[in-house]
Amino acid sequence: MSSDVLVQARQLRKLFPVGRLWWGRPAAWVHAVDDVSFSIAAGEVFGLVGESGCGKTTTGRLVVGALEPTSGTVRVAGEVVGGARHGAWKALRRQVQMVFQDPYGALNPRMTVLDSLLEPLVVHGVGTAAEREELALAELERVGLVPPEAFAFRFPHELSGGQRQRVAIARALILRPRLLVADEPTSMLDASIRSGILQLLLDLKQELGMTYLYITHDLAVARYLCDRVAVMYLGKIVEMGPAEEVIRQPLHPYTRALVAAAPSLESLSGRSVVPIKGAVGRAVNPPPRCRFYERCPLATSRCRTEDHPPLVEKSPGRWVACYEV
Ligand code: ADP
Ligand code: MG
Repeated sequence: MSSDVLVQARQLRKLFPVGRLWWGRPAAWVHAVDDVSFSIAAGEVFGLVGESGCGKTTTGRLVVGALEPTSGTVRVAGEVVGGARHGAWKALRRQVQMVFQDPYGALNPRMTVLDSLLEPLVVHGVGTAAEREELALAELERVGLVPPEAFAFRFPHELSGGQRQRVAIARALILRPRLLVADEPTSMLDASIRSGILQLLLDLKQELGMTYLYITHDLAVARYLCDRVAVMYLGKIVEMGPAEEVIRQPLHPYTRALVAAAPSLESLSGRSVVPIKGAVGRAVNPPPRCRFYERCPLATSRCRTEDHPPLVEKSPGRWVACYEV
C-alpha cells in the first residue's frame, strides 16, 4: 500500500435482512454492497455514482463506521474503521465525517447554529469555552455565513436549505477530519444554489487539504467535482477510473447507458447508444451472475452461467467488470 492512500475498502459486503423472520432467520437478504474494493488517495475526490438503490449510501456509512460490514474491512490512515481498539477508534472517528442529503435531518432543530457547532468541540474536549466559540464563529465565516454573528443564534428552521447545508458542512469540518463523506449534499437544494455549495466544497478541500468520498447520482456533478469515480450497479462496482475518462468514454454497458441518459451531458464521442431496458430492481438473494445481465444489450450465455465478472484493469487506471468489453 503506497503511503498516500488514505482510505482502503477491501471486499466490503453489507447484507440487510428482508421479510419476516422465520425461526430467527430472515426470509431473504438484500445485497446492498457486495464485494466492493477501492482506495482513495489523500487529497483526492473520489465519486460513487449510480442510480438510487445501488448501494452508495450504504458504502458511505460503512466508510465512516456508522454501519458494521457483513464482511470485509475499511481502513482509514491504516486503522480499521469500527474495529480498532476503543481509544484508537475514538481518535479515528474524528478523522472521518459525513454530510447528508437532508441538512435539516442532520441538525438538531432545537439547537442554535452556534450550539450545533460547539457540540463536537465539547464532546472531544477541544479548548476553553471562549476558544470554542471563537472556533465556531470562524467556521461559520469559512463556509460563507457572514457575518457569523448574524447566523450563530438562529435555529435551523430560520435558515434556507443552502444555509442549513453550509452549517452541516461547518459542523462536519470543525474537528478538521481528514476524510469527508458527502452523500448527495446538493440533491435536495434548488439548482440555483447547488453550484455555490459545490464551489464551497472545492474551496474547503483546497484550504484544508481534505479528501472526499463524494456520493451522487448526477454524472455532471461527478464530472465537475471528482478526480476518479466508481460506478455502482446493485451493490457492485462495474466501472472505475478517472472521472473525465469514464464519463467521456464509458466502457461498461451500464455506464454507457447512464451517460446516454444524462440530459446535461452531450454525447461527446458520437458513439451509438443502446437504450437500457427494464428498471433497476433490488439485489434480493441475487444469482451469482452479473447483476446487469437481465438488462444488458451485450449479454451472452457466458454472462448467464458464470459468476459476476471481476473488476479488472483494462488499461492503466481504467477498471471494468464485464466479460464483453
Ligand atoms: P443508494 O444510496 O445508492 O440509493 P442505499 O445504500 O441506500 O442505495 O441502498 C442499497 C440497497 O440496500 C437498497 O436496496 C436499499 O433498499 C437497501 N437498504 C439500505 N439500507 C437498508 C436497511 N437499513 N435495511 C434494509 N435494506 C436497506
Ligand atoms: Mg443514497
